[in-house]
This record gives sequence, structure tokens and C-alpha cells, in this order.
Amino acid sequence: MASETKIKCCRTCLKEDSLMFDLFLERLESSNLADMLVSCTKLKIREDDSLPKQICRYCYNCLVSFSHFCNMAQKAEDKLKEAMLNSEGFNHNSEDLNQ
Ligand SMILES: [Zn+2]
Repeated sequence: MASETKIKCCRTCLKEDSLMFDLFLERLESSNLADMLVSCTKLKIREDDSLPKQICRYCYNCLVSFSHFCNMAQKAEDKLKEAMLNSEGFNHNSEDLNQ
């Protein structure tokens, strides 16, 4: 029918599903799925490229889980660094007290 056929498969696994999530319309907290996918996979996804703009349920769940995992790891890293700084400060102070 139309000369321009939209690619309907999932961007990340190439399967077609009855329920697809739009990368630029679906948002989770402050970022859309495209942003999350870019930061997780280092893919270059632009709204005006000719590739699929949707992902399937399975990939959506993977992306959300992985994104949570990345956030958790980042927060843990921040806490560890903060704790290390605090303990260094504490050791330094206690050494001063012992003098
Ligand atoms: Zn998929």
C-alpha cells in the first residue's frame, strides 16, 4: 500500500509483539526510554533516524531492570566513597586526639 513502510519490530531484539513501548513517548521517572537505552547500551538513538522507535515487553523489562541496576550501583559507589571520606576524616581526627 504505502511506499514507506514503518519498521514495526523491536529496536533491540527485532521481534514483533502485540504490546510495544515507544522509546520517545514512554517515560520512567525523569527520562524517556530512549535516554535509558542510550545510557545502558551506548547506542545512538535519534528521533529522526529511520530505525524502529519501539521496544517489546521483554526488552522493556530488561531495560527497566538494567536501568535500576545501574542506578543502584551508582548510588552504592557514591555511598562507599562518602563512607571512605568520612572514615579517613575520622581516623585523621582520632590520630590528632591521641597526640
Ligand atoms: Zn525486544
